[in-house]
Amino acid sequence: MLAKISVTDNHMHIDSRARGLEAVKEFQNSGGTHIILVTKPSWSLGVTIKKPEDYITVFDETIEIGSKIKKMGVEAFPVLGVHPAEISRLIEHMELQEAMEIMKKGLEIASDYVEKGLAVGIKSGRPHYPVTAEVWATSNEIMEYAFSLGKEQDCAVQLHTENVGKPELQDITERAKRTGIKLYRVVKHYSPPLISVCEELGLFPGVICFKGAIEQALEEGTRFMMETDYIDDLDRPGAVLGPKTIPKRTIKLMETYGEEPFWIVHKDNPEKVYNIEIEV
Ligand SMILES: [Zn+2]
Repeated sequence: MLAKISVTDNHMHIDSRARGLEAVKEFQNSGGTHIILVTKPSWSLGVTIKKPEDYITVFDETIEIGSKIKKMGVEAFPVLGVHPAEISRLIEHMELQEAMEIMKKGLEIASDYVEKGLAVGIKSGRPHYPVTAEVWATSNEIMEYAFSLGKEQDCAVQLHTENVGKPELQDITERAKRTGIKLYRVVKHYSPPLISVCEELGLFPGVICFKGAIEQALEEGTRFMMETDYIDDLDRPGAVLGPKTIPKRTIKLMETYGEEPFWIVHKDNPEKVYNIEIEV
């Protein structure tokens, strides 16, 4: 049986070179209705970034696949940005300073799409793997720049970061606060179910739906979104979670928890965070 409620995946990638719309069909057939559609990293699309304008190709691809998804009857809301791991690729062939400038300009281009109403948020963050102190500092500066763009547009900023606990979330919160962005617009993507911690700090968690994560999250409340980080990459089949996960998990969990919490998780929360409307 399909859920009667809206079912939103807070972080999916869809690539026409990989399973593409077929993956969306699976999501839809399982009861999925809304997708926060996140840009794939430039390199996974075969784009080598040499100048900021190269991001236009990357972003346009997300917009284009987004409109194909909408034609299928699934709502897709693009989130565009610069993957934090881009820095390590760029500094293979340029100075750190230049890499930072390119990444910041890439984020500016992403925020132009938001301004035009073509995207609902910006994607940024910092490397999830060990880097030098210099690269770390620069990555933080880039992330803070994304926050200031988010403040300007009053739009969401999704973060890809290292594994986080309370101290890391605190550090991110302090950096966000300095820019004046509304903290609920700062979305920790791939978040552990630290619902109370995020609520206390103000950040918004997109909980990655590994087994048991949502049960744990619900013990602390409903202030979170659910996501798969479905990567749609043929070289990495089964990496992270599949497109059916959120609808299937939601339907299963509704047997125990009822519909109520999921109206909040799939509708109220994304509506507030991304300033969008979610209709079934
Ligand atoms: Zn992702």
